[in-house]
Amino acid sequence: MKSSPNNLSVSAVIAAGGKGLRAGFDKNKLLVDVCGAPLKKTAKLFDIPDVSEIVIAISGDDLSEAKELLKDIHTPIIFAAGGGTRFLSVKNALDKVTGDIVLIHDGARCFCPSSVIKSCIDSVKNHGSGICAIPSVDTACIAKGGEITDSLDRNTVYNIQTPQGFLTKDIKRAYSLAEGDFTDDSSVYLKYIGRPKIVIGDKSNIKLTFKEDFKQAMEFFTGTGFDVHAFAEGRDLILGGERISCEKGLLGHSDADVLTHAICDALLSAAGLNDIGFYFPDTDPKYKGVSSLKLLGEVVCLIGERGFAVHNISAVIIAQSPKLSPYIDRIKANLSKVIHISTDLLGITATTTEKLGFTGRGEGIAVNASVMLKK
Ligand code: MG
Repeated sequence: MKSSPNNLSVSAVIAAGGKGLRAGFDKNKLLVDVCGAPLKKTAKLFDIPDVSEIVIAISGDDLSEAKELLKDIHTPIIFAAGGGTRFLSVKNALDKVTGDIVLIHDGARCFCPSSVIKSCIDSVKNHGSGICAIPSVDTACIAKGGEITDSLDRNTVYNIQTPQGFLTKDIKRAYSLAEGDFTDDSSVYLKYIGRPKIVIGDKSNIKLTFKEDFKQAMEFFTGTGFDVHAFAEGRDLILGGERISCEKGLLGHSDADVLTHAICDALLSAAGLNDIGFYFPDTDPKYKGVSSLKLLGEVVCLIGERGFAVHNISAVIIAQSPKLSPYIDRIKANLSKVIHISTDLLGITATTTEKLGFTGRGEGIAVNASVMLKK
């Protein structure tokens, strides 16, 4: 392994041995697929040329799932046994580390910017250690029994994150001397080796601890859809799966439910997929007269297969007539059953165009729909 002074080899240790009980999942929170499993994202942070090996401390129960998750990581991965505490997990992992420098990182900090990782490595090269930390924006205090017993000068208070980088020989020595439990590595180093150097971290480098943290980490995607159908004699008028009393209906290959079509297109667009005509062509006899709610159900499945769920929908129906307000609640109920969201998250409004344009002349109905998906 390379080890000239300016080109010391770097290992990463990922502490993933915990159960993540505070997150309230029925398994290791790092393996839960929220927007990708946190463990995979965290390992990817260190799958960089600067790092020559990744040592992951993980419980034997999670080992096979972790191996499957990490099969695309190029950097060699070594597994170490997870201990009952973070301290014991890191200690086990350190036994397997061969690099000159080691970056110890929490498995649940999967958003750490690459610039922070680089700064930690540089700090170890220049100062022998590099602890990622951010200045506290809140005033901190010491409290016992629900009472403040001492105040702290905020300018001296930092919140410690990871990675925490060290010369491997130093931190291995500190861990071999350490007794009792420590919640991070800088405190082990401080007690047995010396004062570790701070590297300014990043606010985005959050630790996924509680279920709310996972929700915050969710990604949202917006989409819009627009559709128009012309009025025609001898057809039923269907909007959002509801039969509307009207002397004319809308022309189309399916039931011509213009509202449901616009919503389908908005959903597909938000998920980066093709439009409704691609999946349900109007040249296919299979879709002749089909209920568009059925197509909507299939669209919800299509986006679901790609990890998307609907957060909310907002659509405006543009029609000079008929009057639609008496139908809105029933339309929402129909859509809600198919999309599996509460009617509170379905905003359906209707407007006229003051007799202007093709909708104003009563030639057809247009719908504009927006959606937000969560991944
Ligand atoms: Mg259409």
